[in-house]
Formats: sequence, structure tokens, C-alpha cells
Amino acid sequence: MNQLEVLAQIGDLDIRLDQISHHVTNLPEREIRAGIEAELGVLASEARVLDGQIADLERQQRRHEDEVARIEAKRAHNSERLYDSHLTSPKEAEALTAEADALGRHQTEIEDQILELMEELEPLHEARANLGQRSSAATERMAAVDAVIGTAESEAGKERDEVLDQRAALVISADPAHVSVYEERRAAARGAAVLGRLIGTTCSACHLEVPSVDYEHITQLAPDELAECPQCGALLVR
Ligand SMILES: [Zn+2]
Repeated sequence: MNQLEVLAQIGDLDIRLDQISHHVTNLPEREIRAGIEAELGVLASEARVLDGQIADLERQQRRHEDEVARIEAKRAHNSERLYDSHLTSPKEAEALTAEADALGRHQTEIEDQILELMEELEPLHEARANLGQRSSAATERMAAVDAVIGTAESEAGKERDEVLDQRAALVISADPAHVSVYEERRAAARGAAVLGRLIGTTCSACHLEVPSVDYEHITQLAPDELAECPQCGALLVR
């Protein structure tokens, strides 16, 4: 095989390597994944707000329940005294009864407030459960997308290894001077074509015709000698 042809094949493999990287970097699943990630972020912040509201209402509810327990204890204590045979006067009994009534009313008020809080909490708990479900569904979708990305990455990795093996074999049979010129130009070109084929009198890298004077000159070079396209500077394989 002509030395320039070896270089051209190395160039083709490098293009393949770029395509593999580009494919893996630009998988549509990455965009989908970013969308799900954003969605999970929104759901999490909505959940934090709801959790805060729920905790607040539940704190109020506990406070009221504690208050009810205190009132009940007091009422129990009162009725013990009321039925205690040691009560000294009817007046004292009257006062205790009045207090028991007041306590009873107060307890009812607080119990109503507890019911109101529970009613307020119910839709919040429902909304929170709904957020939890949406978040688990999004997490499941994310896992599925991650699996697709993982498979694509491992396939790309295998293909990359195969291409790199082929490339290494070609580099062994290539002219080291050619390879180093090619590598230098490739590093400087940042993705632009550094190799072109001379097809007829046209350079395949820039698709321009090589002027006839240059073409004459190129055809007179030794088959393995490097030549550049005068239009784009690509190394010409011929
Ligand atoms: Zn060219």
C-alpha cells in the first residue's frame, strides 16, 4: 500500500473516532435527561414548600391536641372534686360546675379548630402524595434514559477500541515522518480536514480544482512524497 494511502486510512479512522465521540456526546437522551433533571428539581422545590406548610399546620394541630389533653385532665380533676363528699359549700360546687362548663366550651372550640386544620391538611397531603408519585415516575424515566445512555457509551467504547487497534496497526506500517506531519496539522486544525484526495484535478477536502501548474508539479512528485492542496493546504492523497 502506498504510504499516502496508509495516511488516508489513518485519517478515515480519525474521522470515525470523531464521529463516535460526537454521537455519544450528542445523544438525544442527554437532552431528555436534562429535561427530567429540571423537572425533578421543580418537583423537589414544590415538595419542600408543601412539606413546610404541612409541618406548620401539623405543629398547630399538635399544640391544639395538647391543649385538649390539658383541658380534659382539668375537667377530670374538677369532676372528681365535684363528686367528692368533702365539698364544703354549694357555692363551691356552683363555681366548679361553671368552670366545667367553660372548660367544655373551650374544648369544643379547640376541637373545631383541629377539625379545620385537618380539613386544611387533607388537600395538602393529597398534593404531596401526587408530587411524590410524579417524582418517582420521573426518576424511573431517568433510570431508563440512563440505561440507554450507558448502553450507547459502552458500545461506543467498544467501537472506539476497535478503531484504535486498527489505527495502531496502520501507524506501525506508516512513514513516521508522514504521521508526525499529519498529527501536528490535525492538532492545529481543530476538526478541519487535513487530508484530501486528489480526484481528477479536484481536492476532496475543499472541492476546488488544483491549478494546472500545481497539478503538474504534484504528479511529478515521488508517489510517497507529501503534497499540499494549494487552495486549502490539505495533504493530498493521490
Ligand atoms: Zn483543497
